[in-house]
This record gives sequence, structure tokens and C-alpha cells, in this order.
Amino acid sequence: MNNPIKHSLEEIKTPAGAEERMQQKIETALGRPMREMRVILEPKKSVLRPVLAVAAVIALCFLGILGLRQLRPTDPAAIGPAAQPVTAELQQPENVALTLPTLPYLLENNEGNNATSYPYVIHTPSATWYLSAEDMAAQGEEAFFSGLEQLLQNQERDFAEARDYLAPYLQEEIPPIDIYTDFCGHAEESATYGAYYNANRREIRLFHDWDQAGYALLHEYVHYLTMSCSPRPVSATLFNEGVAEYVSCFACENRMMHASISSASAEELDFARRIGIWDEEADSVDLARWYLYMAEKSRDPAIVGTKYTAVSGGLITRTEKINENPSFGNVSYYELGAMFAYLVDAYGEDAVFGNWDKELTDLPELFGKDFTGLYWDWLDWNRAQRESLGIAMD
Ligand SMILES: [Zn+2]
Repeated sequence: MNNPIKHSLEEIKTPAGAEERMQQKIETALGRPMREMRVILEPKKSVLRPVLAVAAVIALCFLGILGLRQLRPTDPAAIGPAAQPVTAELQQPENVALTLPTLPYLLENNEGNNATSYPYVIHTPSATWYLSAEDMAAQGEEAFFSGLEQLLQNQERDFAEARDYLAPYLQEEIPPIDIYTDFCGHAEESATYGAYYNANRREIRLFHDWDQAGYALLHEYVHYLTMSCSPRPVSATLFNEGVAEYVSCFACENRMMHASISSASAEELDFARRIGIWDEEADSVDLARWYLYMAEKSRDPAIVGTKYTAVSGGLITRTEKINENPSFGNVSYYELGAMFAYLVDAYGEDAVFGNWDKELTDLPELFGKDFTGLYWDWLDWNRAQRESLGIAMD
């Protein structure tokens, strides 16, 4: 791969008539036509998004940076059963309004045995969405479905792009993934993470709100692909998180994440432009550039003493010792993701993805160095990439 910063994006292909066939399939299964939904046309509201807020905060106060980040990662080892939301009072299905003016997806009554907690489902070609009654009640149906619509505008293309990119390493047939909203935080993982993929149950759970969901969903979907849809499932540690971060933030456009961070204040915009991470054409943060910046910022002396989520260590405090002797147990998600961008650039996609079932201890055999040795090589590479792209550190 010549340049991991700008992965050339092929047009995402949707098979002709796929949506019509999906609708027919659903109608056959239901034994009736899908219910038509009332459409609300309402402009999107501008909300302060967590990611760009982070970038803006950097200029003022480092304390907030990695604290906000703690909402983000998924812990693939967290595979215990997730709690079910309690029942909430809802309007009758006939009165539910779904804002999907441009989408072919329709709201369905859930006929499954979890219908009390999740009265509605939505089928897209790649996912089955289970919508929590309690989340709808807590957010209000209008806000809930508006956020859902924004995500669904991008979900299929983002999922297809990740599948296409990783296709040589995946099984041919990728079943739709089950996605549950759990904004009220009944799964205990919600205290630490923004979302998670449960490999035993083969489901993604989304915590907190739609912004967080858009931020984390592609990362979780990559976990599903690499853990559950590969002839050689990814190993549980280093490769699992590294590949998920690299694919969702460097290799793919990740429209869901862009939408999640798109509403920036003038101050945030100025900051992103000033440090060189703003993509004028896309009118959004350039994810790869932002990542290179944040990865190096993880080592900033100003970060020492503050808490952040380490890839394998949970919430820990950055120390000078960590900066001097970084290990897999204490690097940030940014550092690991950018390290994988380096590994792909230096050793090629096959060397990385073709060996994702290997372990941390296999690194010397695979790449000639242990984790820490590769970390220092990455840091030199990261600085060179950042400087060549004109990204300032302040
Ligand atoms: Zn993860």
C-alpha cells in the first residue's frame, strides 16, 4: 500500500434491486405488506459532537482529551450476557413516526420473544436493528428516530466498504449483524465503553446516544467481521483492536463517524484548520490526519498524570514511564491504530491482515521486532507523515 493516509475508495456497489428483494422477503415472512410510516421532514439539529469538541479542547486543556475518549472503545473480551431494558410505555405502533424520507427501510413490529423490550425492528441488507422501547421513551420518539435516520443514511455503505476492504480475509457470506440500542445503559459495559461487540451472542450494543453510536459503530462492525466472519478469526488482543481502529479510521471513509462529528462550532473549525486536520472538500475533519495528530498527542508531556483508556488496560493514568517504555498494555487506541497504519504501510496489507490470528508474542517473527521496537519505528513514521501533511502539534 503506497499511502495509508488516503486509501483510494472504490465506489460502493449495491446490487441492483437488493432493497426491493429485501422488502419482498420481509413481506413474504410477514404475510402482509410492510406498514407505511408517516414521514417527518425536519432539518438536522446542530449538536456539539464529542470528537471535534475533543480537538478544540486540546488547545485549552489536555485534561479532557483522553477522558472523553474513554467512552469510545469496545472491549471484545466483554462477552457476558447483556441486561435487557425494562419495558416502557409507548404509543401504539400505528402512531409511531419514522423519519426515513430517503431510505428504503421500514419500521417493523418485532415478532420475536424480545418484543416487549424491543417492540420494533428494522432490516437493512447488512443489519437487523432492535430498537429499545425504553430508549425511545427516554429520548422521545421524534429525536430517537431522527438520530436513527441519520445513522441509517450511511450504515450500509460504511459496512459494505469495510467488507470489501477486508474481503480477502473473510468468508464469502456475511450474515446480517444484530444491533441493539441500549442508551439507558443496562449492560454493565456501558459504564466504560461507547459500544461493544459480543462475539458469543453475535450482536452489537450501542450505548449513550446516537452521536456515540455513529462514532463507534463501524469499529464494532469490523470486530464482527474479523472475529465471527473469518476462516481464521482474529486473535483477541493486539490484532483485534488494531485492525478495528485501522480499518474504521484509516482505510474506510467512515461516513457514520463523519456525520457524528460534522457539526462544529466556528472555534472548533478554526482549530482544526489551524493544525491542518480539516478536509475542506469534505467539510469535515480528515479522520486519518486527526488520528496521526491524536496518536502523537498521546505522548505529550501535558498528558502525563491524566487518565485515558488503554487498549488492554482499561482506564489508566499516563506516566513518564509509559512514554519511555510503551507496551501493548498501556498505549492508547490512537497509538495502536496509527501503529497499524504504519505496519500496513511498511509491511503490506497481507502481512498484517493475513496474520491477524497471531499473538503479541509472534511480532518478532512477523515483523522482526517486539511491540516496543515496532512502537519506536511507528513514532518516527508518524512524525514524518504528519510533517509531510503539514499537521502542526499545537
Ligand atoms: Zn474494539
